[in-house]
Amino acid sequence: MERTYIKDLKNHIGKEVTVKGWVDVRRDQGKMVFLDLRDISGKVQAVVLPSHAEALEVAERVRPEWVVSVSAQVNKRPERNIKAEVLNGDIELEVLNIEVLNEAETPVFDVSSDGREIGEETRLKYRYLDLRRPRLQRNMRLRHEIALHIRNFLSKHGFIEIETPILTKSTPEGSRDYIVPSRIEQGKFYALPQSPQQYKQLLMVAGTERYFQIARCMRDEDTRGDRQPEFTQLDMELSFAKKEDIMKLNEELLIELVQKLVPEKRIQSIPFPRITYKEAMEKYGNDKPDMREDKNDPNLLAFCWVIDFPFFEKDKNGGWTFTHNPFSAPMTEHMENLMKKENIGDILATQYDVALNGFEIGGGSIRNHKPEALVKVLEIMGHSEDSIRANFGHMLDAFSYGAPPHGGIAWGLDRLLAVLTNEPNIREVIAFPKTGEGRDLMMEAPSEVSAEQLQELGIAVSKKR
Ligand code: ASP
Repeated sequence: MERTYIKDLKNHIGKEVTVKGWVDVRRDQGKMVFLDLRDISGKVQAVVLPSHAEALEVAERVRPEWVVSVSAQVNKRPERNIKAEVLNGDIELEVLNIEVLNEAETPVFDVSSDGREIGEETRLKYRYLDLRRPRLQRNMRLRHEIALHIRNFLSKHGFIEIETPILTKSTPEGSRDYIVPSRIEQGKFYALPQSPQQYKQLLMVAGTERYFQIARCMRDEDTRGDRQPEFTQLDMELSFAKKEDIMKLNEELLIELVQKLVPEKRIQSIPFPRITYKEAMEKYGNDKPDMREDKNDPNLLAFCWVIDFPFFEKDKNGGWTFTHNPFSAPMTEHMENLMKKENIGDILATQYDVALNGFEIGGGSIRNHKPEALVKVLEIMGHSEDSIRANFGHMLDAFSYGAPPHGGIAWGLDRLLAVLTNEPNIREVIAFPKTGEGRDLMMEAPSEVSAEQLQELGIAVSKKR
């Protein structure tokens, strides 16, 4: 018989159905057994009566988390047993037959609680069980819905999603690269992308005009807060768009997705307030201000834009480095200083960041689309002519073939989701996250590889911990 989802049982009262899923809870009352059954769509109570002796025999054996196929009659519950406000609180399954599809070991932890009482290491080691808990199921579903909404919204606005390479060359985003050895060219390495920054700009040169990607980014950073070695960005780039256009479009998308997908949330102010970097530092002491009027309200979202960032700052060795992105353009009125390499510390970038409740959830800028301006930025950062050619030659070449003015932005999708779900860290909104030390406890990665693999790559490990 065709399978019925648990959420649809109410449409089958008085009929016989087949439900497939897991045993959530089992209560043996001697003469009869109650089973709460669970599938992706919800839960329902089932009762196995003495009149169905064969089913009762199986019901006495089954345990929580066993996978079963149950055929049953859908009955209305007697008035006194109705539980209002609960899915299927007014119906009950009268079990006719139980087929065990798979048995289960006693789970290492409770999968029906919210899981916050369980040690995270255990949760991550058994993530496939942890993901069964309703809270994480909801988080995964919201993540999907947000991605879907973004795709539909941007598609409607003329964007196309384009995948960019994972095996690529080092990009100067300011973090350490993860590198991948080449077997064919021993001694050479690919880098995993810290972001699709250069590819998306090259797509603008290619005439794509409106690009986006829900993109994985990899940065080999030291353990810091709840960062992940790999994380997800909503990455976009637009040609012929001004800063104002990009901010407006992103603001509209953020508002729409909050209102449609998390309607219980209230956005504190629309349009989003704007604050300069200088003001933010003076008033809040940081560049991602928490502007919430009431920090006890879990449903309050205080978005704001931070603008007018300095382009350069001094690095550890006293040289200049970029604050956000070496490909950014300065504000028009600072272009002259950039070209003359004067008053470097005062040059402001076209950078715009979006902050939410004290977290930076996105950032972008208008780019230098003229090769000579990009060269100046790189020179200020201390690059020699040779190093500019070796590292950025492809960008400069591309910009010399009719690059349109362009700009973009990237959102940290994991962080946005964590705020929207009131989760304390981004691991709660990522299906298979790594620990703070960058380990995947379930797969046991990173791990050693065989001597043959190393030999093929021409790699000798000099020091093992
Ligand atoms: N690539 C930048 C980042 O990863 C975002 C951007 O400017 O579009 O932060």
